[in-house]
Amino acid sequence: MSAHVKYSIVIPVYNEEEVIYETYKRLKRVMDSTGEGYELLFVNDGSRDETVSILKECSGIDQSVKLIDFSRNFGHQIAITAGMDYAAGDAIVIIDADLQDPPELILKMIEKWKEGYDVVYAKRTQRKGETFFKKQTAALFYRLLRASTDIDIPLDTGDFRLIDRKVCEEMKRIPEKNRFVRGLVSWVGFRQTAVEYTRDERLAGETKYPLKKMLKLSMDGMTSFSYKPLKLATYTGGLLSLAGFIYMLVVLYLKLFTDSTVTGWASIIIIQLLFSGIVLLLLGVIGEYIGRIYDETKDRPLYIVRECYGMEPKSRKVQGSVKHG
Ligand code: UDP
Ligand code: MG
Repeated sequence: MSAHVKYSIVIPVYNEEEVIYETYKRLKRVMDSTGEGYELLFVNDGSRDETVSILKECSGIDQSVKLIDFSRNFGHQIAITAGMDYAAGDAIVIIDADLQDPPELILKMIEKWKEGYDVVYAKRTQRKGETFFKKQTAALFYRLLRASTDIDIPLDTGDFRLIDRKVCEEMKRIPEKNRFVRGLVSWVGFRQTAVEYTRDERLAGETKYPLKKMLKLSMDGMTSFSYKPLKLATYTGGLLSLAGFIYMLVVLYLKLFTDSTVTGWASIIIIQLLFSGIVLLLLGVIGEYIGRIYDETKDRPLYIVRECYGMEPKSRKVQGSVKHG
């Protein structure tokens, strides 16, 4: 048997055949240098390339490599969640598979953890090799999120972070379906601190976060932690009603006391388009919330595991009910 597992490194992977072996080697080098027990817990999020066979091979020759193989693509945030459910370590590190997050930074995180911090998140001071569009939308997103929520979600941090076992246990009690993991970690609390780093370029391959997935993630972030988008509907509605009322008085005055009320086709069309646009937009906001409520009530499992390598499969649901029951 290998030594006590002190660190669990959780790595979500989706079609990363070009980088995954290099990632494995670099993580191994870094973790070996700690001289303590660790596991590399890969979560295959339904890759359709050779990622799984490479990882299976690694787990065959290296006891520290474990693999959770999802039945299909469930998404990055869910893959991280599964990693936390299965992690055995006293400290759990979440890191991307594409080496944009430098594995060497883990050592710095461990130092902070040993100083007594429960969450050590990595803050990006610079992002290399990403498009102007991606950087700008990311920056905008983090600021919008911050403005729209009441909990303190740090700016410019992704999911690259170390969490203590007790934070992980709390995360496991959260049943939420449309998860925004970094927000949930902030929400859980405990002693949190940052280490700074420069985000490297992706080693190979292309981003697995197309605009559609980024939009979904931002919506999840904003709706999970605040009602402010809903309040927007209330306030806009109030404002528009007030404007409408004032304009009604104007129209009535013109109708009763002047005879200049026939023209106005353009203004009617403009008001019609503008107002129906706003109404639909706000309906959409409400819809985002209702859709999420619907997801919660269906209460489907968060993910389905096809097979585990290097460890036994377990069920998230059972784990939860045993804990609370
Ligand atoms: N990923 C995943 N499932 C997905 C999309 C991405 O597990 O549906 C993984 C991916 O393999 C990588 C991490 O999540 O390890 C971050 O993805 P990526 O590097 O493509 O995002 P970016 O850095 O471009 O924001
Ligand atoms: Mg990346």
